[in-house]
Amino acid sequence: MEHHGMLIVISGPSGAGKGTLCGLLLEKDKNLALSVSVTTRLPRDGEKEGENYFFTSVEDFQEKIKNNEFLEWAKVYNNYYGTPREFVEKYLKDGRDVILEIDIQGAAQIKKNYPDAVFIFILPPDLEELKNRIIKRGSETLDSFNLRINYAREELRAIFMYDYVVVNDNLENALSKIQSIVSAERCRVSRNKSLIEFVNRRDRLI
Ligand code: ADP
Ligand code: 5GP
Repeated sequence: MEHHGMLIVISGPSGAGKGTLCGLLLEKDKNLALSVSVTTRLPRDGEKEGENYFFTSVEDFQEKIKNNEFLEWAKVYNNYYGTPREFVEKYLKDGRDVILEIDIQGAAQIKKNYPDAVFIFILPPDLEELKNRIIKRGSETLDSFNLRINYAREELRAIFMYDYVVVNDNLENALSKIQSIVSAERCRVSRNKSLIEFVNRRDRLI
């Protein structure tokens, strides 16, 4: 019986904890796959090619846009980011659920082309904690820090495009809420095509 996986879009301001939560989610749920994006930003200390991102040049990124290699792409905080189409389509076809950790512009493109996707917005408890988390991560220059904080307000305005909001105050609580959302979405009748086919067949027998 053919079963297609679902797309799970996770967005939120930089430092909200998206990467941390996605990592934990993947450890606990083997049916989930994380889409690794292509980016023109430089690797942070400890980031690995093919694991965190596929790092590339602006020229190569633009070539990939031309070749329609992205499911969606956007310029975020002065760098390009894009979701490789081939990986995602293959996984969905194999029945795996795929997480896209992408910004609000990318989420809007996915919403248009994949209306069945699940959209989750991650919020920090407050702005002070958001700033503390970015500082604690130690990954940004002052300019990049300011860019991320200033953009947070604009990102928040896009929250109404999303289906769910999860406040990442306590990591365990936030993780458990996301797991519940994924679990409930998998139970939607509309996502269980084989069940619908089974019921239809039984109808014909009666
Ligand atoms: P994002 O991917 O949204 O930019 P990260 O996952 O990189 O955010 O998290 C930013 C920083 O905040 C990291 O240092 C991470 O360890 C920390 N962090 C994430 N979630 C929490 C939490 N619930 N409580 C405290 N610190 C957190
Ligand atoms: P960072 O540089 O902190 O890893 O990511 C910066 C922003 O880019 C985050 O909001 C992240 O969700 C977003 N992002 C990462 N990959 C993609 C992608 O493939 N597409 C889009 N549209 N945004 C992405």
